[in-house]
Amino acid sequence: VPVPRGRRVRISTIEGRQVADTWALGAPDTGEWLSMEHTRGVTQRLTPRVGDDLVTNRRRPLLRLVEDTSPGVHDTLIPACDPQRYADLGHRGFHRSCADNFAAVVAESGWGPHPVPSPFNLFMSVSISGSGDLALGPSPAGPGDSVVLEALRDALVVVSACPQDLVPINGTSMRPTPVGLTGPF
Ligand SMILES: [Zn+2]
Repeated sequence: VPVPRGRRVRISTIEGRQVADTWALGAPDTGEWLSMEHTRGVTQRLTPRVGDDLVTNRRRPLLRLVEDTSPGVHDTLIPACDPQRYADLGHRGFHRSCADNFAAVVAESGWGPHPVPSPFNLFMSVSISGSGDLALGPSPAGPGDSVVLEALRDALVVVSACPQDLVPINGTSMRPTPVGLTGPF
């Protein structure tokens, strides 16, 4: 969805526990995009909080996290799932993936092709041990929990309801459910 500067979008897990891979590209210059690695460098934390500005690969603020009704557990470390991820997990044949969803919507919207940036994985739980080991766990987000992002410059926001059903990130039932995307408002 195109989100003009000053407007907002709300991304929600309708039934709860559903990860929403979220990206933003600059408009009209999609050579600039929301960058998790640059955002971590600027905010000096792993997970953005309400009030944080999320920056691009050129370190310029693109989105602001203005509201979060979830427990605030999100991930900025793990790349989008893709066909190879499902093959590595033992799946045979086609499996929907966030990378494919990104590529499809960017192509349909005439914004691409575009490499798949690292996503802002809303509602995704990745815990980090003291020795630095990562553990992907079920999302703690409840039904209707949502995040509101405000565009600080014109942006193209892409959201994928993660179809991961082989690892219990979308709840222990491993049953992906829809996400809501409302706006811009
Ligand atoms: Zn995914």
